[in-house]
Amino acid sequence: TKSSPDGTFAKGELQHFGPINLNPASGVLNYGQGLFEGLKAYRKEDGSILLFRPEENALRMRMGAERLCMPAPTVKQFVDAVKLTVLANKRWVPPTGKGSLYIRPLLMGSGAVLGLAPAPEYTFLIFVSPVGNYFKEGLAPINLIVEDEFHRATPGGTGGIKTIGNYASVLKAQKIAKGKGFSDVLYLDSVNHKYLEEVSSCNVFIVKDKIISTPEIKGTILPGITRKSIIDVARDQGYQVEERLVSVEELLDADEVFCTGTAVVVSPVGSVTFFGNRVDYGNGGVGAVSQQLYSALTSLQMGLSDDKMGWTVQLN
Ligand code: PMP
Repeated sequence: TKSSPDGTFAKGELQHFGPINLNPASGVLNYGQGLFEGLKAYRKEDGSILLFRPEENALRMRMGAERLCMPAPTVKQFVDAVKLTVLANKRWVPPTGKGSLYIRPLLMGSGAVLGLAPAPEYTFLIFVSPVGNYFKEGLAPINLIVEDEFHRATPGGTGGIKTIGNYASVLKAQKIAKGKGFSDVLYLDSVNHKYLEEVSSCNVFIVKDKIISTPEIKGTILPGITRKSIIDVARDQGYQVEERLVSVEELLDADEVFCTGTAVVVSPVGSVTFFGNRVDYGNGGVGAVSQQLYSALTSLQMGLSDDKMGWTVQLN
């Protein structure tokens, strides 16, 4: 669907997947005026389909749109469009435990603009694809390297929203890290070069003496929906969870480290390498806390446990 001049979006329509027409002078191509979201549909054992907290993705897209001077679909329009797209593709939702349907909503400045300014017209679209595990390791531990040359975000920048440019800027550090055999990069803050921020596409947590800590959200970290959900799930299971500044030195004596995100779900971290030191966690296996939170979250998302938080949306 496209925006009207008053910034509202008409009800959209389904189209077969394929190339779209885009104006060469569009705001998204020239000035990076683009946002995306990522969420998943899971199949329950009875064959029905569940979405996980889609209104949170709608709200995050609206927050990002405000920062990029773009109009955005309402929460209802967003969620209705997700439902419509998933139902039209329901044969692509894998069986329970065999993966999920990844849903990718995009909002972009599709109108032509030559001088730097917000585009005069916007396009909102959604495409989907079945997916398995994000990291080739699956639930096996991943190996991270702390990045001290490149930064993902700066205070006052756009690190806190899901804008396309944030991802272009991490490609090089990720490529170098992968070339050295690491799974991904763990970023530090760009002011003190000392506090943990996040990984290229997921949030990070550390566990020490059963206390779970994660970097607080202060504009340079994406407010992950999995992060927020894991904080609630962990507290519900009796853990103390702290959102605070987490210094890189705390990696040295952490008991467990794990990452959270829609794509990675909960991924245990087997080692972190920083400033020449490699610290190992979990004796090559999955730490107990990471395993417990992974199981709690995935069973909720697949409809295998009681959804007492009311987070899932059943489609059919
Ligand atoms: N940080 C970044 C940079 C991300 O791209 C993502 C994925 N959306 C996350 C964290 C995790 O967010 P979520 O749990 O909402 O997927």
